[in-house]
Amino acid sequence: MYYGFDVGGTKIEFGAFDEKLERVATERVATERVATPGDDYDKLVDTIVDIIQKADQKFDCAGLVGIGIPGMEDARDGSVLTSNIPAAKGRFLRKDLEAKLGRSVSIDNDANCFALSEAWDESLQDEKSVLGLILGTGFGGGLVFDGKVFSGMNHVAGELGHTRMPIDAWFHLGEKAPLFACGCDNKGCIDNYLSGRGFEQLYAHYYGEKLKAIEIIKLHAEGEEKAVEHVERFLELLAICFANLFTCLDPHAVVLGGGLSNFELLYEELPKRIPKHLLSVARVPKIVKAKYGDAGGVRGAAFLNIQK
Ligand SMILES: [Zn+2]
Repeated sequence: MYYGFDVGGTKIEFGAFDEKLERVATERVATERVATPGDDYDKLVDTIVDIIQKADQKFDCAGLVGIGIPGMEDARDGSVLTSNIPAAKGRFLRKDLEAKLGRSVSIDNDANCFALSEAWDESLQDEKSVLGLILGTGFGGGLVFDGKVFSGMNHVAGELGHTRMPIDAWFHLGEKAPLFACGCDNKGCIDNYLSGRGFEQLYAHYYGEKLKAIEIIKLHAEGEEKAVEHVERFLELLAICFANLFTCLDPHAVVLGGGLSNFELLYEELPKRIPKHLLSVARVPKIVKAKYGDAGGVRGAAFLNIQK
């Protein structure tokens, strides 16, 4: 049995998956307490341990435990690096859980879990490598190789959003190209351009009007001039930046998640626009929409312990 936890700022979600990778149990603990620092860390640990022990009893086994967090473990000492779960910040969550459970626990970044969840879907299981890209509030993702997350020496392998804009993307945006500042203290990180937030920021920059992504997409569908121009500029920007990532990682398949991944035009336009930005020997990998939505975090966390 595979147990997965999606630990967020305000809730813990649990899922148990059987050998066929089907979800056989779900539990959600909405707890504001998890979001506050101090001794609520013990409460966080106890809540997770409690859910695991109940599941063990129910399924009469000792399930394999995986945990997805909005952050990562420090690769040097295993302490948790996160700003979204203050209770766990700087704590040794994996070690503490392992001590209480008497079994090993896997922890990974929630974007990596998203990618892993999609990579284990029937339609992608045979792909050697799957790159998950999230076009949500931010832009990031994860790389799955042979059914396992590749997180790198510092656990930052999927933090693609904090690579900087390629020079051809900069030229593409033209004379009025905005140099957006990023939460990581750098300027020009692609996170601020390719995300849903970036889509809105760019529109506001060029047209001086703050609209939601969904409103811009609706105007685009109606053929409104500015929205059409904006979407055209954005699609080409995505193509340039994706091509850059594909040249680095050369994934066999790419899955898009996050709010903006519902924009169907992406799946039509990107395969047409990307080739001219790739090396001539390279083909565009298949680009598909994520299937699991919000459930991907729990699913991927559970699959951290699967072997192909
Ligand atoms: Zn950044």
